[in-house]
Amino acid sequence: MPASAAVRAHADDLADFVAASPSSFHAAAEVARRLEVAGFTSLAEEEGWPLVPGGRYVVVRDGAVIAWVLPRGAGARTGIHVFGAHSDSPALKLKPKPTTGRLGWLQAGVEIYGGPLLNSWLDRELRLAGRLVLDDGSAVLAATGPLLRLPQLAIHLDREANDHLALNKQTQTQPVWGLGDAASADLLAELAAAAGVDAGCIRGYDIVTADATRGAVFGKDDVFFASGRLDDLASVHAGVTALVAAPSDTAHIPMLAVFDHEEVGSATRSGAAGPFLSDVIERVQRGLGADRDEQLRALAASWCVSSDVGHSVHPNYPDKHDPVVQPVLGSGPILKINANQRYATDAVGAAAWHGWCDAAGVLSQEFVSNNAVPCGSTIGPITATRLGIRTVDVGIPILSMHSARELAGTADLFALTRAAGAFFSS
Ligand SMILES: [Zn+2]
Repeated sequence: MPASAAVRAHADDLADFVAASPSSFHAAAEVARRLEVAGFTSLAEEEGWPLVPGGRYVVVRDGAVIAWVLPRGAGARTGIHVFGAHSDSPALKLKPKPTTGRLGWLQAGVEIYGGPLLNSWLDRELRLAGRLVLDDGSAVLAATGPLLRLPQLAIHLDREANDHLALNKQTQTQPVWGLGDAASADLLAELAAAAGVDAGCIRGYDIVTADATRGAVFGKDDVFFASGRLDDLASVHAGVTALVAAPSDTAHIPMLAVFDHEEVGSATRSGAAGPFLSDVIERVQRGLGADRDEQLRALAASWCVSSDVGHSVHPNYPDKHDPVVQPVLGSGPILKINANQRYATDAVGAAAWHGWCDAAGVLSQEFVSNNAVPCGSTIGPITATRLGIRTVDVGIPILSMHSARELAGTADLFALTRAAGAFFSS
C-alpha cells in the first residue's frame, strides 16, 4: 500500500528540516525558528526567565537547544517528560588554515569529526556550514551551497580498489573546492560571502561539511527515505514536531532536549554529559517556586525518552544481527535494549514505552545486539546517570548508519513523531 498523504508530507517536512540543518548550530537555530513560529518565546541564558504557566519557551546553547511547554497547572512538584536527541552528525570539519591545495587544485584542510563511513563521502557534492565568530564577538551562521567534493581515484589507477578501499585519513580526505593557486584563494571568504559578512572580520569558526543532496522518498510503495544526517535529525524533527502540537493541560512538563557532540562522546557544555539540561530544569523548577525537596520529588516523577537511530537488519549481512530479534524498516520505532546498559532501557521503561506507542496507535520493535558484535551507545545512559530520571532508549531503525546518506523507513518517521506526541501528552 502506498504511503499515506500524512506520511509523505511528514517525510517532505523532514527533508526541509535536514536541508535547513547542515550543522548542529543550524539544527538548533531551525528548532528555535520553528518553535517561535508556533508561538514559543525565546529565552537567553544570560537573562532572567519570566516563566508563566501556560507559556512555551525555547533556549539555545551553541549547537544544543531545549524547549518546553509549561502547563497551566504546573507547580513545584510537576514532573517533566523529556524527549532527548542530538543535533550533530559525523562529518569532515575545517582545520585552522583551511585553504590548501596542490597541482592546480584548491583543497580544504579537514579533520574527521566522529565516526563517518569515509567511503560514503566520496563523489558527493558537499556544503560547508556552521558558525563564524566575528571581531566584535558576535556569532553568525554560515552555509554555502554545493562547494566541495572528495573525488575517488579511478579504478584504472587502482585495479584492486573494489577489494580493499581504505582511505588514509590525512592524505586522502582533503576535498577539492576549486582550481588555482591556494596562495591567492580564501576558503573562509566563501563562508563570509554566504553569511553576508566581511571575511577580514572572522576571528573563529566551527565549520563542517554536509551532503548537499536533499532527502527523498523512493522504493516500492514509497517505503524508503534516504537523507544525510538522519542520525539524529530524524529524532530532532520528530521531537520538535510533537512539541509544537503538545497540549497546555498535561500533568507534566513536555520538554525537548537536543544535545550537540553525541558523536564525539557528549562531554562538552552543550553535550548530554554537560550541565545544560540540569541547568534548564533547575531554572524551570525555581521559577515554579520549588525547594530542593520538591525538585527531587519532581525528578522522581519524570521520564526521559532518549531517541537516536538504531540498526535495522541488513539482508546482505544477516550474521551481524541477533538471530531472533530482527527489527526492519517500516515496522515502527525500536526500543533499544542492552544488558550492559549501553542503552538505559529497563523493564519499567519498556512497559512505559509500549504504553505510549499503544496510546499513539504505533507499532514498536525491539533491538538487541548480536553478542559477538559490539553495541553502540547514545545520550540515554548519560542523561539517566546525570539526572536520575527514569530513561528509555528508542529510535528509528536505519541502514547505512554514519554514511553521508542514510536510509530509513518512511512510515517510521511519522510513527516516531506520533509516539513522541503520546509521550508529551500522556
Ligand atoms: Zn546518533
